[in-house]
Amino acid sequence: MTKVRTRFAPSPTGSLHLGGVRTAFYNWLFARQNKGTFVLRIEDTDAERSTEESAKGIIESMQWLGLNWDEGPFFQSERLGIYFDHLEKLRKAGHIYPAFDTQEELDEMRAIAKKEKRNPIYDRRALKLTEAEIKQKMDAGEPFVWRFKVPDTEYTEIPELLMGEPDEHKIRNSTIGDFIITRPGTNDNPGMPLYNFACVIDDALMDITHVIRGMEHLPNTPKQVLMYKALGYKVPQFIHLPIIMKNNKKMSKRDKDYDPNFPVSILERRDLGYLPDATLNFIALLGWSHPESQELLTPFEILENFSVDRLNKANPNFDEQKYMFINGWHVKNRHDYELVETVTPHLEKAGYDLSAYSKSDLEKMMAMEKERCHLLSQFPEALKFFFITPESYEEKGIRKSFYVPEADFILETTVKMISALTDEEMNRATLDSKLAAMVMDLGIKYGIVGPIIRLAITGRTKTPGLAEIIEVLGKDETVKRLENARAFIKTLPPLPVESEATA
Ligand code: GLU
Repeated sequence: MTKVRTRFAPSPTGSLHLGGVRTAFYNWLFARQNKGTFVLRIEDTDAERSTEESAKGIIESMQWLGLNWDEGPFFQSERLGIYFDHLEKLRKAGHIYPAFDTQEELDEMRAIAKKEKRNPIYDRRALKLTEAEIKQKMDAGEPFVWRFKVPDTEYTEIPELLMGEPDEHKIRNSTIGDFIITRPGTNDNPGMPLYNFACVIDDALMDITHVIRGMEHLPNTPKQVLMYKALGYKVPQFIHLPIIMKNNKKMSKRDKDYDPNFPVSILERRDLGYLPDATLNFIALLGWSHPESQELLTPFEILENFSVDRLNKANPNFDEQKYMFINGWHVKNRHDYELVETVTPHLEKAGYDLSAYSKSDLEKMMAMEKERCHLLSQFPEALKFFFITPESYEEKGIRKSFYVPEADFILETTVKMISALTDEEMNRATLDSKLAAMVMDLGIKYGIVGPIIRLAITGRTKTPGLAEIIEVLGKDETVKRLENARAFIKTLPPLPVESEATA
C-alpha cells in the first residue's frame, strides 16, 4: 500500500480562520492516523493578495494548535521554475493554448451565451488563431493567458470519498470550459501560475495521496483531474468537506465584519483565551462525530477515534456557545501548574504585578477559579482582588453586610484571630476550622459573618471560599484589608429608611 501523504495548502491572503483549521486538522489527523506524512504548503502565487505577514500568522496558528508538519513549509513563490517547466510540457503536448482576449471581449461572449441560454463557457475562439498569428501577437507584446484545452471525451471522473453519489462524481466535459491556468502575461514577462495549475503540479510532485479540503473547491476538482491526466500523474483521492454554517448562512472569513463578537481568526481566539485543545475539539466536531457520540475530547482521543467513515455529509452548524462550553471543560481539566503558564500572560496583560505571589499561590488561584472561567481571558477579572486591594465595595454588599450593626466588631475579631495565627497555621484547613470556631464564639450565623469578611477582603459578594482566599492573600494583606474595611464602615452615612439592610 502506498504511504498516506496529505497536505494543508493555505493561501496567505489573511489570517488562518476556523474553517481553515478544520481542513488542516482533518489532513493532519488522517496523516497521523495512517502513519503518513503531513505537508505544509503556502500557496502564494497571487502576489497582489498574498502577504508575508499572513504566511507568518498561518504558521504561528498551526504551531499554537500543535498541528505539526513533517515537510515544508513550501512556498509556491519559490517554485515558479517548476511550474513554468510544466507549462512548457503542456504546451508541447498540445494541452494548452494562448488566448489574447480582452476583458470586454470575454464579457460580450458571456452576455451572448446568457441571452442564448447557453452555459457561458469559453468559446475557444483563440484556438482558431494560426501559428503565424500567435507569433505576431506575441512578438508585438500583446498580453495573453494560457488556457487548458479540455479533452473532447465525455466525462471526467472525480475520485471523491465523501460527497454525493457515484454518478455525481462524473462531470460532463462539455460543461467545464477551457480554463485559464496563468495570469495575463507577455512572452517576455510570463503570467504567474494560477491555483488550479500550481496546486496540481505540487500535489503530484509532493506525492499527495489524499486531498481533503472544503466543499467550495469541488468545482475546481474536475479541472485538476484533467490536468493530472494530461501530465501523466496519478490522481489523488479527494474528500470535500461540508460547508460550515452559522445562523443558517455560510460561515465566511468576513463574518467578523458583521459580528465583532465572532472572530473567525484563530489567533484572535487565542488572544480571547481559547485553548488549542478546546479549539481542535470543537472544530473536530464540525463534520465528524465520535463513535460513541462523545463531545468532550482531548486531541489524543480524537486521533484515536478519527476515521473518514465517520465524516458527515451534512453541513455542520457553528455554535458559539458550544465552543465556549468545550473550552470551559478543557480549562477545568488542565493541571493548575499548566494553567499558571497559560493564564499568566492574560494577568500580565491586565497590568497585574505577580511578584507578590509564589508559583504555588498562583496554582491555588487557578484551582479556585477554573470551574468558573470558560475562557483564559476571564481569569484576570475573576482574580482581580488578589492583585488589587479593593478600594470600593459592591453596593449591594455594603447595604447587606456593612450596615449590620456588629460588622465592625466581627471584622475586629477576625483581625485578632488572623493576627494570632502562626505561619504554619496560615493554611486552608486551619483557617477553615479557626473561622468556624470564631463564628461559634461570636454567636452570629455564618450567613452573616462570612459575607462581611468576604466583602472586606475582596470587595465582592461572590468569591471562592474565604479560607482559600486568606491562605493565598497572606496574613498581612488580609489584616490590612480587614482594617481598611473597618475604616470604611466608620464613614458610612446612616441608612435611608427604605433600605433593605438586614440586621
Ligand atoms: N490555496 C487553496 C486555498 O487556500 C488550497 C485549496 C486546496 O486545498 O486545494 O483555498
